[in-house]
Amino acid sequence: MKRRDFIKNALTVAALSPLAKLSAQESNNTKENTMVSAEKSNFEPLSRSILGFGLMRLPRVKDTKTDEIDVEQTKQMVDAFLEAGFTYFDTAWAYPGSEDAIRQALVERYPREKFQLATKNAAWIGCKTKEDAIAQFETSLKRTGAGYIDFYLLHNLGETRTKFFEDFDLWNWGKELKAKGLIKHLGFSFHSTAEELEEIFKAHPEAEFVQLQLNYADWESPSIQSRKVYEVARKYNKPIIVMEPVKGGLLANPPQSVKDVFQKADSKASYASWAIRYVADLEGVMVVLSGMSNIEQMKDNLSYMKGFKGLTDEQRKTIETARQEMAKIPLIPCTTCNYCAKVCPMEIGISGSFNAMNIYTLYNNLDQAKHQENWLVGMHGKKKAAECVKCGACEKVCPQHIKIREELEKVAKTLG
Ligand code: SF4
Ligand code: SF4
Repeated sequence: MKRRDFIKNALTVAALSPLAKLSAQESNNTKENTMVSAEKSNFEPLSRSILGFGLMRLPRVKDTKTDEIDVEQTKQMVDAFLEAGFTYFDTAWAYPGSEDAIRQALVERYPREKFQLATKNAAWIGCKTKEDAIAQFETSLKRTGAGYIDFYLLHNLGETRTKFFEDFDLWNWGKELKAKGLIKHLGFSFHSTAEELEEIFKAHPEAEFVQLQLNYADWESPSIQSRKVYEVARKYNKPIIVMEPVKGGLLANPPQSVKDVFQKADSKASYASWAIRYVADLEGVMVVLSGMSNIEQMKDNLSYMKGFKGLTDEQRKTIETARQEMAKIPLIPCTTCNYCAKVCPMEIGISGSFNAMNIYTLYNNLDQAKHQENWLVGMHGKKKAAECVKCGACEKVCPQHIKIREELEKVAKTLG
Protein backbone atom coordinates (compact mmCIF):
# COMPACT_ATOMS: atom_id res chain seq x y z
CA MET A 1 0.00 0.00 0.00
CA LYS A 2 1.49 3.36 -1.03
CA ARG A 3 1.51 6.35 1.29
CA ARG A 4 -1.41 8.12 -0.35
CA ASP A 5 -3.48 4.92 -0.01
CA PHE A 6 -2.35 4.59 3.61
CA ILE A 7 -3.63 8.09 4.41
CA LYS A 8 -6.82 7.52 2.38
CA ASN A 9 -7.49 4.29 4.22
CA ALA A 10 -6.73 5.91 7.56
CA LEU A 11 -9.17 8.75 6.81
CA THR A 12 -11.87 6.28 5.84
CA VAL A 13 -11.24 4.20 8.94
CA ALA A 14 -11.39 7.30 11.17
CA ALA A 15 -14.95 7.99 10.05
CA LEU A 16 -16.20 4.56 11.18
CA SER A 17 -17.27 3.19 14.57
CA PRO A 18 -14.43 1.67 16.68
CA LEU A 19 -15.53 -1.87 15.82
CA ALA A 20 -15.95 -1.10 12.14
CA LYS A 21 -12.58 0.67 12.21
CA LEU A 22 -10.81 -2.43 13.37
CA SER A 23 -12.64 -4.59 10.90
CA ALA A 24 -11.95 -2.24 7.96
CA GLN A 25 -8.33 -1.92 8.94
CA GLU A 26 -7.87 -5.67 9.20
CA SER A 27 -9.49 -6.15 5.82
CA ASN A 28 -7.15 -3.58 4.23
CA ASN A 29 -4.12 -5.09 5.86
CA THR A 30 -5.00 -8.64 4.84
CA LYS A 31 -5.60 -7.67 1.27
CA GLU A 32 -2.80 -5.23 0.78
CA ASN A 33 0.00 -5.76 3.21
CA THR A 34 1.07 -9.17 4.25
CA MET A 35 3.89 -7.67 6.35
CA VAL A 36 1.44 -6.32 8.90
CA SER A 37 1.07 -8.70 11.82
CA ALA A 38 -2.09 -9.69 13.68
CA GLU A 39 -1.12 -7.21 16.40
CA LYS A 40 -2.70 -4.06 15.04
CA SER A 41 -2.94 -0.51 16.20
CA ASN A 42 -6.14 1.26 15.35
CA PHE A 43 -4.31 4.12 13.65
CA GLU A 44 -5.83 7.47 12.89
CA PRO A 45 -4.60 10.03 10.33
CA LEU A 46 -2.52 11.69 13.02
CA SER A 47 -1.05 14.21 10.60
CA ARG A 48 -1.67 15.01 6.95
CA SER A 49 1.56 16.97 6.57
CA ILE A 50 4.03 14.70 4.77
CA LEU A 51 6.79 17.27 5.28
CA GLY A 52 7.68 18.23 8.85
CA PHE A 53 9.79 21.25 9.79
CA GLY A 54 12.55 19.88 12.04
CA LEU A 55 13.58 22.63 14.47
CA MET A 56 16.90 21.27 15.69
CA ARG A 57 19.09 23.17 13.23
CA LEU A 58 17.38 26.56 13.01
CA PRO A 59 19.28 29.45 11.39
CA ARG A 60 21.69 31.38 13.61
CA VAL A 61 22.25 35.11 13.70
CA LYS A 62 25.40 35.83 11.72
CA ASP A 63 28.40 37.61 13.14
CA THR A 64 27.50 37.17 16.79
CA LYS A 65 29.32 35.15 19.42
CA THR A 66 26.13 34.12 21.20
CA ASP A 67 24.99 31.48 18.67
CA GLU A 68 21.51 32.99 18.86
CA ILE A 69 18.67 31.63 16.72
CA ASP A 70 17.71 33.94 13.88
CA VAL A 71 14.03 34.33 14.78
CA GLU A 72 13.30 36.73 11.89
CA GLN A 73 14.55 34.23 9.31
CA THR A 74 12.71 31.45 11.16
CA LYS A 75 9.50 33.49 10.78
CA GLN A 76 10.00 33.66 7.01
CA MET A 77 10.57 29.90 6.93
CA VAL A 78 7.45 29.25 9.01
CA ASP A 79 5.39 31.48 6.70
CA ALA A 80 6.62 29.72 3.56
CA PHE A 81 6.05 26.28 5.10
CA LEU A 82 2.45 27.00 6.16
CA GLU A 83 1.74 28.80 2.89
CA ALA A 84 2.71 25.60 1.03
CA GLY A 85 0.11 23.68 3.05
CA PHE A 86 2.39 21.88 5.53
CA THR A 87 1.55 21.98 9.23
CA TYR A 88 3.89 19.74 11.29
CA PHE A 89 6.65 21.30 13.48
CA ASP A 90 9.11 19.21 15.48
CA THR A 91 11.04 20.61 18.43
CA ALA A 92 12.34 19.12 21.71
CA TRP A 93 13.04 20.15 25.27
CA ALA A 94 16.66 19.25 24.54
CA TYR A 95 17.17 21.49 21.45
CA PRO A 96 18.75 24.66 22.80
CA GLY A 97 16.60 27.74 22.12
CA SER A 98 14.28 25.88 19.73
CA GLU A 99 11.07 25.82 21.79
CA ASP A 100 11.44 29.49 22.61
CA ALA A 101 12.10 30.39 18.96
CA ILE A 102 9.09 28.51 17.65
CA ARG A 103 6.83 30.27 20.17
CA GLN A 104 7.94 33.58 18.66
CA ALA A 105 7.99 32.50 15.03
CA LEU A 106 4.85 30.35 14.99
CA VAL A 107 2.70 30.07 18.13
CA GLU A 108 2.38 33.81 18.75
CA ARG A 109 1.66 34.50 15.06
CA TYR A 110 -0.83 31.85 13.96
CA PRO A 111 -4.11 30.42 15.31
CA ARG A 112 -3.41 27.27 17.30
CA GLU A 113 -5.50 25.00 15.07
CA LYS A 114 -3.40 25.90 12.00
CA PHE A 115 -0.39 23.82 13.02
CA GLN A 116 0.67 20.67 14.85
CA LEU A 117 3.52 20.88 17.31
CA ALA A 118 5.69 17.99 18.45
CA THR A 119 8.10 18.12 21.36
CA LYS A 120 9.95 15.54 23.41
CA ASN A 121 10.85 14.36 26.89
CA ALA A 122 14.46 13.32 27.41
CA ALA A 123 14.18 11.70 30.85
CA TRP A 124 17.70 10.30 30.46
CA ILE A 125 19.19 13.80 30.55
CA GLY A 126 19.77 14.90 34.11
CA CYS A 127 16.62 13.39 35.65
CA LYS A 128 16.89 11.67 39.01
CA THR A 129 13.17 11.44 39.71
CA LYS A 130 9.85 11.31 37.89
CA GLU A 131 9.26 14.91 38.99
CA ASP A 132 12.43 15.98 37.15
CA ALA A 133 11.07 14.41 33.97
CA ILE A 134 7.63 15.99 34.45
CA ALA A 135 9.35 19.36 34.88
CA GLN A 136 10.66 18.99 31.30
CA PHE A 137 7.07 18.83 30.04
CA GLU A 138 6.08 21.87 32.06
CA THR A 139 9.08 23.75 30.68
CA SER A 140 8.12 22.74 27.13
CA LEU A 141 4.55 23.99 27.61
CA LYS A 142 5.83 27.29 29.00
CA ARG A 143 8.54 27.83 26.40
CA THR A 144 6.34 27.00 23.41
CA GLY A 145 3.26 28.76 24.79
CA ALA A 146 1.26 26.23 22.77
CA GLY A 147 -1.29 25.33 25.49
CA TYR A 148 -1.13 21.69 24.47
CA ILE A 149 1.24 19.48 22.48
CA ASP A 150 -0.07 17.60 19.45
CA PHE A 151 2.66 14.96 19.37
CA TYR A 152 4.53 14.21 22.57
CA LEU A 153 7.52 11.92 22.20
CA LEU A 154 9.54 10.01 24.72
CA HIS A 155 12.86 11.06 23.27
CA ASN A 156 15.52 8.73 21.90
CA LEU A 157 14.62 5.37 23.38
CA GLY A 158 17.05 2.49 22.94
CA GLU A 159 20.04 1.07 24.86
CA THR A 160 20.30 2.33 28.45
CA ARG A 161 17.93 5.25 27.81
CA THR A 162 14.74 3.15 27.59
CA LYS A 163 14.92 2.27 31.26
CA PHE A 164 14.45 5.87 32.47
CA PHE A 165 10.98 6.00 30.94
CA GLU A 166 10.07 2.70 32.58
CA ASP A 167 11.55 3.57 35.98
CA PHE A 168 9.69 6.89 36.09
CA ASP A 169 6.45 5.32 34.80
CA LEU A 170 6.33 7.88 32.01
CA TRP A 171 4.20 5.82 29.65
CA ASN A 172 1.32 5.88 32.15
CA TRP A 173 1.98 9.53 32.86
CA GLY A 174 1.76 10.18 29.08
CA LYS A 175 -1.65 8.50 29.04
CA GLU A 176 -2.76 10.81 31.87
CA LEU A 177 -1.59 13.87 29.92
CA LYS A 178 -3.61 12.66 26.98
CA ALA A 179 -6.73 12.15 29.10
CA LYS A 180 -6.33 15.74 30.36
CA GLY A 181 -6.01 17.06 26.79
CA LEU A 182 -2.50 18.35 27.41
CA ILE A 183 -1.15 16.16 24.64
CA LYS A 184 -3.02 14.77 21.64
CA HIS A 185 -0.80 11.82 20.74
CA LEU A 186 1.86 9.83 22.56
CA GLY A 187 4.77 8.15 20.81
CA PHE A 188 8.55 7.86 20.91
CA SER A 189 11.70 8.39 18.92
CA PHE A 190 14.21 5.61 18.74
CA HIS A 191 17.87 4.92 17.94
CA SER A 192 18.90 1.32 18.37
CA THR A 193 18.32 -2.20 17.05
CA ALA A 194 15.23 -3.72 15.47
CA GLU A 195 15.05 -6.27 18.30
CA GLU A 196 14.87 -3.54 20.93
CA LEU A 197 12.23 -1.68 18.93
CA GLU A 198 10.08 -4.80 18.82
CA GLU A 199 10.40 -5.18 22.61
CA ILE A 200 9.13 -1.62 23.09
CA PHE A 201 6.14 -2.15 20.80
CA LYS A 202 5.26 -5.33 22.68
CA ALA A 203 5.53 -3.62 26.06
CA HIS A 204 3.73 -0.43 24.99
CA PRO A 205 0.86 -0.92 22.56
CA GLU A 206 -0.27 2.56 23.64
CA ALA A 207 2.51 4.07 21.49
CA GLU A 208 0.56 5.68 18.68
CA PHE A 209 3.48 6.39 16.37
CA VAL A 210 7.24 6.07 16.17
CA GLN A 211 10.01 8.34 14.95
CA LEU A 212 12.87 6.52 13.23
CA GLN A 213 16.14 7.34 11.48
CA LEU A 214 15.49 6.26 7.89
CA ASN A 215 17.52 7.19 4.83
CA TYR A 216 18.84 5.44 1.75
CA ALA A 217 22.45 5.49 2.99
CA ASP A 218 21.61 3.77 6.29
CA TRP A 219 19.07 1.38 4.79
CA GLU A 220 21.33 -1.67 5.19
CA SER A 221 23.66 -0.20 7.82
CA PRO A 222 24.42 -2.76 10.55
CA SER A 223 24.49 -0.03 13.20
CA ILE A 224 21.55 2.23 12.21
CA GLN A 225 19.45 -0.62 10.76
CA SER A 226 17.04 1.65 8.85
CA ARG A 227 15.41 -1.16 6.87
CA LYS A 228 15.06 -3.47 9.84
CA VAL A 229 13.51 -0.90 12.18
CA TYR A 230 11.21 0.26 9.37
CA GLU A 231 10.01 -3.32 8.91
CA VAL A 232 9.30 -3.68 12.63
CA ALA A 233 7.25 -0.48 12.63
CA ARG A 234 5.27 -1.77 9.65
CA LYS A 235 4.75 -5.10 11.35
CA TYR A 236 3.16 -3.31 14.30
CA ASN A 237 1.26 -1.01 11.97
CA LYS A 238 2.56 2.20 13.56
CA PRO A 239 2.59 5.44 11.58
CA ILE A 240 6.22 6.44 11.04
CA ILE A 241 7.79 9.86 11.38
CA VAL A 242 11.16 9.90 9.65
CA MET A 243 14.12 11.72 11.16
CA GLU A 244 17.51 12.28 9.55
CA PRO A 245 16.34 11.60 5.97
CA VAL A 246 19.39 13.58 4.79
CA LYS A 247 21.60 12.10 7.51
CA GLY A 248 22.31 15.36 9.31
CA GLY A 249 22.95 17.09 5.96
CA LEU A 250 25.53 14.55 4.73
CA LEU A 251 23.33 13.33 1.86
CA ALA A 252 23.03 16.89 0.59
CA ASN A 253 26.66 16.44 -0.43
CA PRO A 254 27.16 12.70 -1.01
CA PRO A 255 30.31 10.98 -2.39
CA GLN A 256 31.14 11.86 -6.03
CA SER A 257 30.13 8.46 -7.43
CA VAL A 258 26.68 8.92 -5.87
CA LYS A 259 26.43 12.47 -7.20
CA ASP A 260 27.19 11.15 -10.69
CA VAL A 261 24.24 8.75 -10.52
CA PHE A 262 21.83 11.50 -9.47
CA GLN A 263 23.22 14.03 -11.96
CA LYS A 264 22.74 11.59 -14.81
CA ALA A 265 19.13 10.97 -13.79
CA ASP A 266 18.15 14.61 -13.22
CA SER A 267 20.73 17.38 -13.26
CA LYS A 268 18.28 19.89 -11.74
CA ALA A 269 17.19 17.95 -8.62
CA SER A 270 19.17 18.64 -5.45
CA TYR A 271 20.88 15.69 -3.75
CA ALA A 272 18.81 16.37 -0.63
CA SER A 273 15.64 16.07 -2.71
CA TRP A 274 16.50 12.49 -3.65
CA ALA A 275 17.05 11.62 0.00
CA ILE A 276 13.81 13.21 1.21
CA ARG A 277 11.64 11.85 -1.58
CA TYR A 278 13.07 8.37 -1.02
CA VAL A 279 11.63 8.13 2.50
CA ALA A 280 8.45 10.10 1.70
CA ASP A 281 7.67 7.40 -0.84
CA LEU A 282 7.80 4.54 1.69
CA GLU A 283 4.57 2.88 2.76
CA GLY A 284 3.39 3.83 6.24
CA VAL A 285 5.49 7.01 6.43
CA MET A 286 3.32 9.80 7.81
CA VAL A 287 5.77 12.70 8.17
CA VAL A 288 9.32 13.27 6.93
CA LEU A 289 11.20 15.73 9.10
CA SER A 290 13.64 18.01 7.40
CA GLY A 291 15.88 20.01 9.70
CA MET A 292 16.05 23.14 7.59
CA SER A 293 18.60 25.80 8.49
CA ASN A 294 17.83 28.65 6.13
CA ILE A 295 15.17 29.97 3.79
CA GLU A 296 16.96 28.55 0.73
CA GLN A 297 16.75 25.01 2.12
CA MET A 298 13.09 25.61 2.90
CA LYS A 299 12.42 26.72 -0.68
CA ASP A 300 14.27 23.70 -2.06
CA ASN A 301 12.27 21.30 0.17
CA LEU A 302 8.97 22.92 -0.76
CA SER A 303 9.76 22.83 -4.49
CA TYR A 304 9.58 19.04 -4.62
CA MET A 305 7.44 18.16 -1.59
CA LYS A 306 4.47 20.40 -2.37
CA GLY A 307 2.09 18.11 -4.19
CA PHE A 308 4.47 15.13 -3.92
CA LYS A 309 2.73 12.07 -5.33
CA GLY A 310 5.42 9.44 -4.91
CA LEU A 311 8.45 8.35 -6.93
CA THR A 312 8.35 6.71 -10.33
CA ASP A 313 9.85 3.24 -10.74
CA GLU A 314 12.69 4.86 -12.67
CA GLN A 315 13.44 7.23 -9.79
CA ARG A 316 13.38 4.36 -7.30
CA LYS A 317 15.90 2.52 -9.49
CA THR A 318 18.14 5.59 -9.56
CA ILE A 319 18.23 5.73 -5.76
CA GLU A 320 18.95 2.03 -5.53
CA THR A 321 21.87 2.50 -7.96
CA ALA A 322 23.13 5.39 -5.83
CA ARG A 323 22.88 3.26 -2.71
CA GLN A 324 24.85 0.49 -4.39
CA GLU A 325 27.52 3.00 -5.48
CA MET A 326 27.82 4.10 -1.88
CA ALA A 327 28.15 0.49 -0.76
CA LYS A 328 31.21 0.08 -3.04
CA ILE A 329 33.23 2.58 -1.02
CA PRO A 330 35.58 0.53 1.18
CA LEU A 331 34.71 0.97 4.83
CA ILE A 332 35.76 -0.71 8.06
CA PRO A 333 33.47 -3.78 7.95
CA CYS A 334 32.31 -3.43 11.56
CA THR A 335 28.80 -4.77 12.16
CA THR A 336 28.45 -3.19 15.64
CA CYS A 337 28.05 -6.62 17.22
CA ASN A 338 30.10 -5.24 20.15
CA TYR A 339 31.69 -8.58 21.07
CA CYS A 340 34.96 -6.63 21.30
CA ALA A 341 33.43 -4.30 23.91
CA LYS A 342 32.85 -7.26 26.20
CA VAL A 343 36.57 -8.10 26.38
CA CYS A 344 38.28 -4.71 26.09
CA PRO A 345 39.95 -3.90 29.42
CA MET A 346 40.11 -0.21 28.54
CA GLU A 347 36.45 0.21 27.54
CA ILE A 348 37.42 1.69 24.21
CA GLY A 349 34.42 2.71 22.09
CA ILE A 350 35.55 0.52 19.22
CA SER A 351 32.40 0.24 17.11
CA GLY A 352 31.52 3.91 17.66
CA SER A 353 35.01 4.96 16.56
CA PHE A 354 34.72 2.83 13.43
CA ASN A 355 31.29 4.22 12.66
CA ALA A 356 32.66 7.77 12.92
CA MET A 357 35.67 6.88 10.75
CA ASN A 358 33.35 5.44 8.11
CA ILE A 359 31.43 8.72 8.05
CA TYR A 360 34.71 10.51 7.42
CA THR A 361 35.64 8.11 4.60
CA LEU A 362 32.23 8.43 2.93
CA TYR A 363 31.60 12.16 3.21
CA ASN A 364 35.03 13.64 3.87
CA ASN A 365 33.41 15.71 6.61
CA LEU A 366 35.63 15.91 9.67
CA ASP A 367 33.18 17.90 11.81
CA GLN A 368 30.39 15.37 11.32
CA ALA A 369 32.76 12.46 11.97
CA LYS A 370 33.94 14.05 15.22
CA HIS A 371 30.36 14.79 16.19
CA GLN A 372 29.48 11.14 15.61
CA GLU A 373 32.48 9.97 17.61
CA ASN A 374 31.54 12.28 20.46
CA TRP A 375 28.02 10.83 20.55
CA LEU A 376 28.84 7.14 20.08
CA VAL A 377 31.98 7.07 22.21
CA GLY A 378 32.19 9.91 24.75
CA MET A 379 28.45 10.27 25.40
CA HIS A 380 28.16 6.49 25.83
CA GLY A 381 30.82 6.49 28.56
CA LYS A 382 33.50 4.90 26.36
CA LYS A 383 37.14 5.87 25.87
CA LYS A 384 38.61 7.21 22.66
CA ALA A 385 40.79 5.27 20.20
CA ALA A 386 44.03 6.86 21.40
CA GLU A 387 43.67 5.14 24.78
CA CYS A 388 43.93 1.62 23.34
CA VAL A 389 46.82 -0.28 25.01
CA LYS A 390 47.10 -2.73 22.10
CA CYS A 391 46.54 -5.88 24.15
CA GLY A 392 44.80 -7.53 21.17
CA ALA A 393 41.96 -9.13 23.18
CA CYS A 394 39.36 -7.56 20.88
CA GLU A 395 40.85 -9.04 17.70
CA LYS A 396 40.51 -12.56 19.07
CA VAL A 397 36.72 -12.21 19.27
CA CYS A 398 35.95 -10.05 16.23
CA PRO A 399 33.88 -12.16 13.80
CA GLN A 400 34.83 -9.79 10.96
CA HIS A 401 38.58 -10.33 11.58
CA ILE A 402 39.19 -6.60 11.64
CA LYS A 403 42.69 -5.49 12.52
CA ILE A 404 41.21 -3.43 15.29
CA ARG A 405 44.47 -2.09 16.71
CA GLU A 406 45.62 -0.79 13.30
CA GLU A 407 42.24 0.74 12.54
CA LEU A 408 42.07 2.42 15.95
CA GLU A 409 45.46 3.97 15.29
CA LYS A 410 44.09 5.46 12.07
CA VAL A 411 41.02 6.74 13.92
CA ALA A 412 43.20 8.37 16.58
CA LYS A 413 45.31 10.07 13.91
CA THR A 414 42.35 11.25 11.86
CA LEU A 415 39.81 12.24 14.48
CA GLY A 416 42.30 13.27 17.14
S1 SF4 B 1 43.63 -3.84 21.76
FE1 SF4 B 1 42.83 -1.90 22.48
S2 SF4 B 1 40.74 -1.91 21.86
FE2 SF4 B 1 41.44 -4.01 21.73
S3 SF4 B 1 40.91 -4.91 23.69
FE3 SF4 B 1 42.98 -4.16 23.89
S4 SF4 B 1 42.75 -2.06 24.68
FE4 SF4 B 1 40.75 -2.71 23.93
S1 SF4 C 1 33.79 -7.34 17.32
FE1 SF4 C 1 34.46 -6.56 15.33
S2 SF4 C 1 32.58 -6.32 14.15
FE2 SF4 C 1 31.97 -6.56 16.29
S3 SF4 C 1 31.82 -4.43 17.03
FE3 SF4 C 1 33.90 -5.13 17.49
S4 SF4 C 1 35.09 -4.46 15.72
FE4 SF4 C 1 32.96 -4.36 15.12
